[in-house]
Amino acid sequence: MAKPILLSVDDDSDVLRAIERDLRSQYGAEYRVIGSDSPEGALDLLKQLQLRNDSVALLLADQRMPRMDGVEFLQQAMGIFPGAKRALLTAYADTNAAISAINQASINYFFLKPWDPPSEHLYPQLDDLLDDWQASFHPAFQGIRVLGTRWAPKCYELRDFLARNRVPYEWTDVELSANDPETKRLLEALGPEATNLPVVLFPDGTKLLEGVPADVAQKVGLRTRAQTNFYDLAIVGGGPAGLAAAVYGASEGLHTVMIEREAPGGKAGMSSRIENYLGFPAGLSGTDLARRAVVQAERFGVEILSQAAVGVRVEGPYRIIKFPDGNEISCHALMVATGVQWRRLDVPGIERLQGAGIYYGGGATEALSCKGENVYVVGGANSAGQAAMNFAKYAERVVILVRGESLSSTMSQYLIDQIKETHNIQLWTHASVVEAHGETHLEEISVLCSDTGKTERVQASAMFIFIGALPQTDWLADVVERDDRGFLLTGPDLIRNGQRTKGWNLERDPYLLETNVPGIFAVGDVRHGSIKRVASGVGEGSVAVQFIHQYLSKV
Ligand SMILES: Cc1cc2nc3c(=O)[nH]c(=O)nc-3n(C[C@H](O)[C@H](O)[C@H](O)COP(=O)(O)OP(=O)(O)OC[C@H]3O[C@@H](n4cnc5c(N)ncnc54)[C@H](O)[C@@H]3O)c2cc1C
Repeated sequence: MAKPILLSVDDDSDVLRAIERDLRSQYGAEYRVIGSDSPEGALDLLKQLQLRNDSVALLLADQRMPRMDGVEFLQQAMGIFPGAKRALLTAYADTNAAISAINQASINYFFLKPWDPPSEHLYPQLDDLLDDWQASFHPAFQGIRVLGTRWAPKCYELRDFLARNRVPYEWTDVELSANDPETKRLLEALGPEATNLPVVLFPDGTKLLEGVPADVAQKVGLRTRAQTNFYDLAIVGGGPAGLAAAVYGASEGLHTVMIEREAPGGKAGMSSRIENYLGFPAGLSGTDLARRAVVQAERFGVEILSQAAVGVRVEGPYRIIKFPDGNEISCHALMVATGVQWRRLDVPGIERLQGAGIYYGGGATEALSCKGENVYVVGGANSAGQAAMNFAKYAERVVILVRGESLSSTMSQYLIDQIKETHNIQLWTHASVVEAHGETHLEEISVLCSDTGKTERVQASAMFIFIGALPQTDWLADVVERDDRGFLLTGPDLIRNGQRTKGWNLERDPYLLETNVPGIFAVGDVRHGSIKRVASGVGEGSVAVQFIHQYLSKV
């Protein structure tokens, strides 16, 4: 934790040096001593310290300074750090002024110049003030602070990114806490920049206005640039399949990089409780699984890049991956483990309110905000059931909307049973959302009831959509063969009527998880015909490494 600050202000440089010296020798071990020779400069400095979330314990100012006297400085400084103890340095002739300042301007003490010996005329009184300050001091949060509003999609995107990457941060909703004095002071210190939300304040005093995940990633040390430009194995996608491949690849000696555009863990990372993963009888959360897998991968030396792959090309034995910033890396073996992305619900109002009450998937950061609210979950698969169970811990009422007449054909029985036993979850069958309403955020939804033919308009604070998913593989379109929905074809899918796929010119058949391009493999949910489960993704990622060894032995 950064040491609290003792700030002294005096336009006379000899006096300033002397007071700094005496403060440092007595308090330097516990406090940071800073001096300023101008009250205006000191006020600017205090604003910077406030944005860094530093703590100021003491403000000590000379009374006689040109342009602004000590009392006026302390009064203004009090608006920035109201908790700091305030003291004046005065000449004997100013004693009366100092006494009235104590009475009128909430100044805690005055010291007479010179204060020699400090052990008699300075330290005992300061000890008293600092003891007093310590007693009511609550150390400030030392990490990243994000200022924004709950309903702004950009703020949601950033918070979700931080949460999923397990970057600790302190969130301030500037609308909800508009009357909080601390928020007011912070916004004042930011000035006009406070409108560029989300504002991200870093402990080193720097800030990002309208912060986006990629910039924040760079700042918090998530790697966005590869360490070298060539790898034995590059894996695109850091879900269970990609993580398993990374662990097996690196543990078996392959120089491995894993490229993940959001956060390691993938879809599994969004699951509040995976109950069917072998070896965890009580279930485990997707976040926990992801965290453990990342530690394991890093221990074997996997490099994890926070980046999106946007293109691929083949040059002889090299597979080259392109990033949005134009950078590229090359590898001998490329594994695509990009999973699937949520299907969009295409009805009026949804796109406009996405991130402002409407979310695809779990909305990791939103569960807590749903306290006491009416939440709708659209979809009848396991992912929707798990999300409903999670939101039910916080929301007043969770309604699951499904088009069919029950959950039995789409959801596992254990989840159906849990839902039945949860008093604040309600199932609404034969129901489809046909419109979302709200000005700045979701307020209501219109639901068409297919059994009655009627449309009902109901109040909704948040709606989470889980209506199936499709792969996003356009970046591979001209290179890798896909089915009509974009899933990647591998191994036996590439042999039709005993004929290998066009363009395949090796003597051997494609390996089990290999695509139509030798050395490019596909595993997990993105693969045509895959079983959409954590365990099968992990299995495929691990098994594929064996084929990669065979492939690399002939490159
Ligand atoms: C809410 C929920 C609950 C679930 N519960 C269970 C359960 O209880 N049991 C179970 O077995 N299964 C469950 N599943 C299914 C399971 O999570 C998936 O089958 C599994 O995560 C698939 O793993 P994957 O690695 O293939 O893909 P994903 O987990 O989807 O990971 C793919 C990763 O690739 C990244 N990516 C995509 N494109 C790019 C790109 N161009 N560049 C860089 N990165 C990219 C994505 O950001 C993502 O992180 C659940 C799924 C959800 C959504």
